[in-house]
Amino acid sequence: MTYRLSLRYFFALIIALSLLLWAAIPTSEGGIVLKVHELKVKPKKNHRITRNLIPCNVTDKISNNFGTIGSKLPSSVPYRLNPSSAPSSVNSNLTTIVNNSFSAWDVTTDGVTFIPGSNTSKTRASFDGQNIIAWGRLSRSTLGATYIWYKTSTGEVVEVDTIMNSRQPWSWTDPTGLYVNDYCPLTNAYDAQNILIHELGHWVGLDDLYNSSEEDLTMYGFGDKQELKKDTLETGDKLGAGSIYPH
Ligand SMILES: [Zn+2]
Repeated sequence: MTYRLSLRYFFALIIALSLLLWAAIPTSEGGIVLKVHELKVKPKKNHRITRNLIPCNVTDKISNNFGTIGSKLPSSVPYRLNPSSAPSSVNSNLTTIVNNSFSAWDVTTDGVTFIPGSNTSKTRASFDGQNIIAWGRLSRSTLGATYIWYKTSTGEVVEVDTIMNSRQPWSWTDPTGLYVNDYCPLTNAYDAQNILIHELGHWVGLDDLYNSSEEDLTMYGFGDKQELKKDTLETGDKLGAGSIYPH
């Protein structure tokens, strides 16, 4: 009796451990080794506040620099949004924000089609067959994070998830008709499109850059409140995408 009982617990333990491993370590898919790459965009230190306005530092430095992760999107990239996770300040414009963000990269990624799918309720990155864009809790030192699972043999992306940090303040300024490189809204918040376009650069296969000479590139790894300049791709961003998806 004792023997049978402990054996049953033993098997239960084995099954639980297997399930845990299967869920926690998404390293293989049909024998193909996958690599997960986690990239985070960090907030810049707040500018000093004077006269209740945040001074907006804008520059227009030219840089041809780019970094690549070693991953490349397949020809068809379905994605799912979690609108209910988005803060109320951007929620009603989320579809426009996301469409604008994919459009920015679409012209640089020959042969890749981004396909909107049904909504998701997920708020965390996990290897589950869905490419998601959602708001969820990340550490205070993060604005957004993108997680990429790709085949080490070919670099082909198998899944990619972007989580925007729900602990940060968010807003959205429609960049249409603005020269965003020297326009700053007065809201004391991060612009959702500005940061999402950076995160989608990771979907495309580009890495973060941190040199001050690269601060006006979309792939610069820090973001500012009021910042809109990542809305437009600059020379280095386009050269980087072009190196992965040649015309
Ligand atoms: Zn980044």
